[in-house]
Amino acid sequence: MHIHEYQAKGLFRQFNIKTPNSILINTTAEAGKACADLGGNIWVVKAQVHAGGRGKGGGVVLCRSIEEVEDTCKQLFNTRLITPQTDAKGLPINQLLIEGGQNIERELYLGLLIDRQTQQITILASTEGGMDIETVASETPEKIIKFGVNPLGALNVDDCTLIASQLKLEGVLSEQFVSALMGLYEIFTSKDVSLIEINPLITTTENSLLALDGKIDFDDNALYRHEDILALRDILQEDEKENEASEYQLNYISLDGTIGCMVNGAGLAMATMDLIEHHGGSPANFLDVGGGTTAERVAKAFELIQTEKNVAGILVNIFGGIVRCDLIAEGILQAIEKVGLNLPIVVRLEGTNAAAGLKLLDESSAEIYTEANLTQAAIKIVELSK
Ligand code: ADP
Ligand code: MG
Repeated sequence: MHIHEYQAKGLFRQFNIKTPNSILINTTAEAGKACADLGGNIWVVKAQVHAGGRGKGGGVVLCRSIEEVEDTCKQLFNTRLITPQTDAKGLPINQLLIEGGQNIERELYLGLLIDRQTQQITILASTEGGMDIETVASETPEKIIKFGVNPLGALNVDDCTLIASQLKLEGVLSEQFVSALMGLYEIFTSKDVSLIEINPLITTTENSLLALDGKIDFDDNALYRHEDILALRDILQEDEKENEASEYQLNYISLDGTIGCMVNGAGLAMATMDLIEHHGGSPANFLDVGGGTTAERVAKAFELIQTEKNVAGILVNIFGGIVRCDLIAEGILQAIEKVGLNLPIVVRLEGTNAAAGLKLLDESSAEIYTEANLTQAAIKIVELSK
């Protein structure tokens, strides 16, 4: 689960990590008072969306007057922000964070994640923070400091001080860094975090160390034991279809191709998508209806695929191992009865009761192409959806 920058900063403050003063607003009418309450004469308007790269996408705007802040708010509210980290549709801007403009001296990077190779919580730090940390990591990886935390111990002050010195932080800045890193580690371990990041972690001309941005991803499988974190969920930032699908235990991910896929098993779903690509088509979604699926779930899956605007044809590919193909066929027919069929559809059934399933589909009045061979099915749907 992702959370917003303002929510991450709220957690930072609880764990002794200093942040600039900021105020969250929901309408432009609140902007003037927010600026006045913050004081100063430079403010930064920051779009709250579940993606980074906002600066590059026009979602972080420095303003030198209240009028400028208000104009920026008007331009940003209720639009969608497209950044290098979102898809072409972008994410809705429903809230803005007004933050005091800071006198930045240096922009550092500090993050924690689990390194799957060493199986350790790993600290990443760099003197080259800011908007291009991805380029730093790929082109000059030697500029990234990596420190694995011993899983049998805990992070200690000496380790943090050493990292501070590698970042050339001294005196009070080093002390603030140690407390910030200990705080991040505490959030990471106590809240079942999978990634936590401050980019940039700045030093100011007033000799202070501040988290200017904040990103936290939580492990979904552990959310059941963190009610406070679950309360931070913003479903307006999530894909509506993917959420609806998960209520029916369907694994659904929207893509931008034209062929809707309904498959059982993640591996078979991947292979099906590859085969579609191989024969000149492109998948409109990844959909795994699961191993022991039911007719009701198939009907729901069918409905989800059909309501996606870019879909020009549907390929159903089911291997009946645990699930019976005749049940799948019934599900498809039920779905067609319920939501109608206005797209070409090819169904490939193989395995338990495949013959009975194909017979049911062939005998129905709906126009369904049945296929026992997967390659032929892929070729057929690519042809029909052109
Ligand atoms: P993103 O990573 O999504 O682009 P950030 O919050 O990191 O968003 O902001 C991008 C850049 O904007 C920062 O690297 C920093 O240079 C500048 N910036 C952000 N907030 C402030 C602020 N309060 N004062 C001054 N500059 C800021
Ligand atoms: Mg950032």
